[in-house]
Amino acid sequence: MQASATVKTNLLGLHRPALERYFADLGEKPFRARQLLQWIHQRGVTDFALMTDLARDLRARLQERAEVRAPRVIREQVSEDGTVKWLLSENGGSAVETVFIPEPDRGTLCISSQVGCMLNCTFCSTATQGFKRNLSADEIIGQVWFAVNALADPRLGERRVTNVVFMGMGEPLLNLEAVRPALSLLRDDLAYGLASRRVTISTAGVVPGMDDLAHGDEFALAVSLHAPTDELRTRLVPLNRKFPLADLMAACQRFVRVHHRRSITFEYTMIDGVNDSRREARGLVRLLNGLPCKLNLIPFNPFPGTPFRPSSPEVIYEFQKVTRAAGIITTVRKTRGDDIDAACGQLVGQLLDPSQRRRVVQEQLARQAMPA
Ligand code: SAH
Repeated sequence: MQASATVKTNLLGLHRPALERYFADLGEKPFRARQLLQWIHQRGVTDFALMTDLARDLRARLQERAEVRAPRVIREQVSEDGTVKWLLSENGGSAVETVFIPEPDRGTLCISSQVGCMLNCTFCSTATQGFKRNLSADEIIGQVWFAVNALADPRLGERRVTNVVFMGMGEPLLNLEAVRPALSLLRDDLAYGLASRRVTISTAGVVPGMDDLAHGDEFALAVSLHAPTDELRTRLVPLNRKFPLADLMAACQRFVRVHHRRSITFEYTMIDGVNDSRREARGLVRLLNGLPCKLNLIPFNPFPGTPFRPSSPEVIYEFQKVTRAAGIITTVRKTRGDDIDAACGQLVGQLLDPSQRRRVVQEQLARQAMPA
């Protein structure tokens, strides 16, 4: 590890093994990493000078070569229902959105994994903004660090983050390199200590990524399904061309097997007259047959320029009757933070040229090795 006056290592994104390596390179014992994790993630301390159980000369060396740099807040909006949305400034002038959703029994933080998104789902407003780049591990975990510390403010009700979902901007399984250490920190008892069922990765169906992640840290998986047939799903989620339903469902079966029958949550955005008929409900029942799963119906959240509209509550109710009768646990997601555009698919941030999206998605997919 090279000490440099200008480029300092940001320790915020280093998970326990990486931090242990960092201290080994400094000729220090591994338990220093454990101390650092607690100072940074549990006590919210970023100034090495305040880390009083580290020797004075180690603090000085850290100050020289490292830093703990969290994102800065650009804008904070608080919804009438208590939902908080932050626009956070990341490295190099990018911005991402992070949303906190308070409920009586939990506090869910929805985080972003990329600046923008390259998947181009036709009903998602993030897609209309194009793709800029992957977030780094410190930028991903930095959203959690920021929210945990911001929520300690009595003005925001001194709420706690009990659950984290990767359902903000971006496709987490196209940025595994950074998502993996962030996951590890979320689960680490010396950092955020969240149980595996309290951390959810949501994917549009990146099959190699699903297989890849299945063998690392434990977490809950959500799959954005939205349609029971390839024809319809390809229209809504163009990634379906690359990973059609047969491949996606086979990957779900593998995930369930590796995770000892842990159930998968399928997300299904209800779009008026597009995917919300009883026929589609019955198709979904056939598709999910035998898989331990839950179904989450999300009324479509409109955004400017979209041709789609949300299904009516009656239609959603009828759809739910069909899937429930078939024994599938089905919930309807309450739309939260509507007045501040914090609902699903409404996260925008600051993004780049959409024309780059196609090239980048090809490159990303090419880099994901297909399993033999
Ligand atoms: N790329 C990941 C995570 C981000 S999207 C994924 O696709 O799962 C999080 C969820 O919000 C997904 O299920 C997505 O399909 C859904 N969503 C996107 N736009 C929406 C909209 N306008 N209305 C309702 N749900 C939407």
